[in-house]
Amino acid sequence: MPWVGRAYTLAQSGRGRCRIVSARQDRRRLVSGVCTALFADTVNPVTRVNPPHLVADPVDVIIIGAGAAGLAAARELSRSRLSVLVLEARDRIGGRCWSRHEPGLAVPIEYGAEFIHGRPPATFSLLREAGVRALGRTGSRWFVNDGELQPSDRTALLGEVRNAMLTSRRPSHDLSFHAYLNDRLAKRLSADAVTLAQRMVEGYDAADPRRASARAIVDEWTGESTGNDASYRPQDGYGALLAWLAAGLRESTVQLRLHSVVRSVRWSDRTVQIEGDRLGHLFRVRARRAIVTLPLGVLQRPSTASGAVRFEPPLRQKRAPLASLASGAALKVILRFRHAFWERMQQGRYRSAGFFQAPGAPFPTFWTCHPLHAPVLVAWAGGPRAQRLSRLDDDAIVQCALSSLKRLFSGAADIDAQFEAAYVHNWQRDPFAGGAYSYVKVGGAGARKALAATLEDTLYFAGEAADYEGETGTVAGALQSGVRAAHELLQCVGRGDDGRKPKSG
Ligand SMILES: Cc1cc2nc3c(=O)[nH]c(=O)nc-3n(C[C@H](O)[C@H](O)[C@H](O)COP(=O)(O)OP(=O)(O)OC[C@H]3O[C@@H](n4cnc5c(N)ncnc54)[C@H](O)[C@@H]3O)c2cc1C
Repeated sequence: MPWVGRAYTLAQSGRGRCRIVSARQDRRRLVSGVCTALFADTVNPVTRVNPPHLVADPVDVIIIGAGAAGLAAARELSRSRLSVLVLEARDRIGGRCWSRHEPGLAVPIEYGAEFIHGRPPATFSLLREAGVRALGRTGSRWFVNDGELQPSDRTALLGEVRNAMLTSRRPSHDLSFHAYLNDRLAKRLSADAVTLAQRMVEGYDAADPRRASARAIVDEWTGESTGNDASYRPQDGYGALLAWLAAGLRESTVQLRLHSVVRSVRWSDRTVQIEGDRLGHLFRVRARRAIVTLPLGVLQRPSTASGAVRFEPPLRQKRAPLASLASGAALKVILRFRHAFWERMQQGRYRSAGFFQAPGAPFPTFWTCHPLHAPVLVAWAGGPRAQRLSRLDDDAIVQCALSSLKRLFSGAADIDAQFEAAYVHNWQRDPFAGGAYSYVKVGGAGARKALAATLEDTLYFAGEAADYEGETGTVAGALQSGVRAAHELLQCVGRGDDGRKPKSG
């Protein structure tokens, strides 16, 4: 069972007298107690002065993190003769991919990643191997204009923004996207296209337009995959795909340890010693090499901060890239209703709706499960708005999502009577994430590649922030960065002097 995501259920259903209770408060209290202990500096005075009492056998490679990047790296290494240990802090695999299945609901609850953007080979090849289908996302788009929901022509507006970017060319000196949009693009764009561009940077890139690199966004929006706006969902959620990845490791030389919070990494030429906490016990393990897939938000913590991973010697080479990237904010609230009430509104006008947008609301975007029909609407906020909302507690966040929805339908639906449950996870406050996904700050060109660079044939880096092959910020980026880091490692082993030869790779 997950430990931070919360489900709220409706305890009393009288019209307008709904009470919301946390269905898992007890569980949350219990497990967050364990987590506090794991992070405490003084777990036990004896373990502080004595050597750690869980000392594992040395392995060839330690992978830190069992999210998409860590699991993909482990899979590649499992084809070699190397012994591999994956250390994961949480009580589950998947990291920022986290699917939950609820009785009576035909679609999974996705606390984190939900969509496959375009057709990235890293994801589609795995889906094929795993036999998991990708369901195309469809549905009409509706936009609040003059207080009324109207059909939105997003494709045309997006085309307008891209054309303006191509005409005004890539900025020769980097500047913030905010300045670029207002000073260079706005004169070529309609007011609606300006709003869309601003919303896309905040909502899609989870970025603050005043900090985000205009050059990085222009490259992203005018790049090779431009025009492929198709997106898909893995059937049964990302959880099914990652569970398949993890299950494939079982019969290999890879060991996977959950509940294992890495606290320090001491490294030198082809020697790594990792210490951490496992269910209240300190552990220590050695390896020749490590693949670090820690999220950007965790890597950026000062070494003395709570929840930081301390590197000895410090990662001096990573200081500049870490300072040039930002961990973007996103908040997603999955709202479950008695019925898909919007499908019956206004003679079925919204029956095939995929998206609803109300630009001024705290949660400006909602989507449905279309083409599947389920009584679920997902509320989404990204960028500075999400950052602000993240400071609220979960109950207040859910209330904001509900009030944004009421605003969207301007009182035409009795949302309170329909509301049944909400699911939310605050990734910004999650000690093992520290944000949703990364973006490049002004002047940060090359930061992702520098973050990904290997240190002394000993430390390798993967994770969505360390992808520089066009899929940053996504599950596909995480998967392909994991494969890339594993191949780099295997190449070093293949040419190296450590007496090990990979079987393949
Ligand atoms: C709300 C939200 C919605 C998203 N939507 C999409 C989407 O629709 N499509 C898409 O492609 N992407 C989406 N993303 C982004 C996507 O989820 C990530 O890019 C991807 O999952 C990152 O994978 P990763 O392996 O790099 O990192 P993670 O999944 O974060 O894996 C890193 C692992 O390291 C572990 N860890 C952290 N600290 C420690 C420690 N001290 N010791 C040991 N282990 C540790 C973590 O628990 C985690 O399991 C979304 C993200 C969020 C938050």
